[in-house]
Amino acid sequence: MKQYLLPQTERIYKANMHTHTVCSDGDFTPEEIKARYKAHGYQIMAFSDHDFCFPQSALNDEDFLALTSYEVAINEHNPRSPYDKCYHLNLFARDPENTKIVCFDPVYGAGKLRKEPDLQGQLDLWSTEDREYSVDYVNHLVEEAQKAGFFVSYNHPTWSQQHYPDYIGLKGIWGIEVFNSDCAQGGFGEDDVRPFEDLLKAGTKVFPLATDDVHTAKDAFSGWIMVAAKSLAYGDVISALEHGDFYASCGPEIRSLTIEDGILRITCSPCRHICVSTEFRCAFRAQAPEGELLTEAEFDLHRWYDLCAPGKEATAYFRVSLFGADGKNAYSRPYYREEVEGQF
Ligand SMILES: [Zn+2]
Ligand SMILES: [Zn+2]
Repeated sequence: MKQYLLPQTERIYKANMHTHTVCSDGDFTPEEIKARYKAHGYQIMAFSDHDFCFPQSALNDEDFLALTSYEVAINEHNPRSPYDKCYHLNLFARDPENTKIVCFDPVYGAGKLRKEPDLQGQLDLWSTEDREYSVDYVNHLVEEAQKAGFFVSYNHPTWSQQHYPDYIGLKGIWGIEVFNSDCAQGGFGEDDVRPFEDLLKAGTKVFPLATDDVHTAKDAFSGWIMVAAKSLAYGDVISALEHGDFYASCGPEIRSLTIEDGILRITCSPCRHICVSTEFRCAFRAQAPEGELLTEAEFDLHRWYDLCAPGKEATAYFRVSLFGADGKNAYSRPYYREEVEGQF
């Protein structure tokens, strides 16, 4: 029987998972962000200002949902140095009213607290400590965030000047940015797919995110995720996100993604080519004939299934990338062998 890898829901919702407002260093108020993004067909915005949690639930309406989140930074040395590495993580709250600040380090909130001393008294501190630049410390922070009711994305590794040793040991992260508009606009590369791929190959289950990281008008409307949630209720959106019922895109649209008897089928907006990659040397590609574009493709995944060594089933995956004619791409999450076992 046909299995829908991307659930067939009544609607699929467009979301930006990384947003700054005047509450930190963004140019727009939350109300302006809502108006601009709604006008561009978005229904979901994660408001992720720096270091402090400002829920924007008052903006919710029948066609708009604000997700409660914030972005934490962990700097190596001096954030003003051009060589300074950092980890930036978005914490997304499972409960919209959750404003707990995980591992609060006053150094990171100093400027804001100087300007708004009243904030200090309102902080809902989960824990306070000096943040430290190390994989172990980040793993500790992610664990604390999970205990406090959040799931965590790992943001813009390229802008953060990070490479393999900085991220390969990360544990418990839910998502990773494969595209960040603000960083792309700054010249830091159009995509961050390599760290995503490296983590998957290391056996870390993580979902791809394309985001705007919007601070100014130039960042807006370039990277998003499409979420196949049952409804726009906060709980339904969170459960779709946590389950990975979404894909990341800068343009192409995945209309359906199914598997039946080992055959992966995809229908999509017109694309130049479509690739399926896996955790080992086994990949597939469908290419549009000269002068044409693809709106569907089929891949027989038996070769992938058969190559998977016994004992490796839990980390054996395939994932789909769509390449648009305009150079814009889209990425599915990894689908694991154990999820599709019944189709072979
Ligand atoms: Zn950041
Ligand atoms: Zn940011």
